[in-house]
Amino acid sequence: MTFASPTPEPVLDRQCEQRDAPGYLAAVLASASHRVVLFHRGKALLQGSGLGYFDPAELPEVLPAGTTSVFLGQVRPGQGHPLPDGTDLVLHVLPNDTENLDWVPGDSAFAGYRDAAQELHKGDAQVFIQAQAVANWHLSHTHCPRCGTPTEVEASGWVRGCAKDGSEHFPRTDPAVIVAIVGADGRILLANNFAWEENRYSTVAGFVEAGESAEDGAVREIAEEVGVHLHSLEYIGSQAWPFPRSLMLGFIGHTNDIDAAPDNVEVRAARWFGREELQQAVLSGEAAISHRQSIARTLIEEWYGGPILEPGDNA
Ligand SMILES: [Zn+2]
Repeated sequence: MTFASPTPEPVLDRQCEQRDAPGYLAAVLASASHRVVLFHRGKALLQGSGLGYFDPAELPEVLPAGTTSVFLGQVRPGQGHPLPDGTDLVLHVLPNDTENLDWVPGDSAFAGYRDAAQELHKGDAQVFIQAQAVANWHLSHTHCPRCGTPTEVEASGWVRGCAKDGSEHFPRTDPAVIVAIVGADGRILLANNFAWEENRYSTVAGFVEAGESAEDGAVREIAEEVGVHLHSLEYIGSQAWPFPRSLMLGFIGHTNDIDAAPDNVEVRAARWFGREELQQAVLSGEAAISHRQSIARTLIEEWYGGPILEPGDNA
């Protein structure tokens, strides 16, 4: 019943061993052929509906004071990325207090991931998520957590070092679990959160706590949020997610419980859907489900057995 599953390939080669060398990022920045992704206040600069990859000649020679630069990677061959194979990509994270953005090219605009994701190519989405995760980390980890000294950016943007005590700090990834709950009769239990429109349904997710396995976290979160007990879990796959820098571990979880009990804190309602019932509800607009770039959608379609059509799709 698995339909989704050739191992996805990354669009960028992160050059993890090379980028630690002193001067690596400076040499990339000195080359005319690198391209730049820009972030400001949690949003990326888009051109048209795609992520903007700017020629350094289009940017000011001196970027705003406090800009943090990060080497993202080299475009890998055969991934369908719009840039030539081997292009070096650099992220510039503009400081939050940057006010003057007059130099930004006229046909571009900043957008957050949720607003941009529906239109992004797969490769753009990967670069956006990577860039946002590391940008979020830099903006919130400016000082040494041991001694409070301002840290310095090292290793092409992948380490912050403390000159006072010599400690090194790395970008954090926060594990989270996301679960498509399937009942004994084969139906799926989807939840509606208070933060969403009342007809939006999705899988249930939550962060793994310190010292907890992903499986234990999944069973705990599902019991807390929708009140059913999972007796078994199948791991399906993972997706990096930029809020704020999560790694979503996706499962299908099986339960024998029938009565769901929304927590009334995060979850407003939980509803069982059969396959045909969900497809019809999506087509009629009675229910909306997560967009196609999300692991939530992947999990729902893993259960469904193929792509779920949306209003406007050609059947
Ligand atoms: Zn320190």
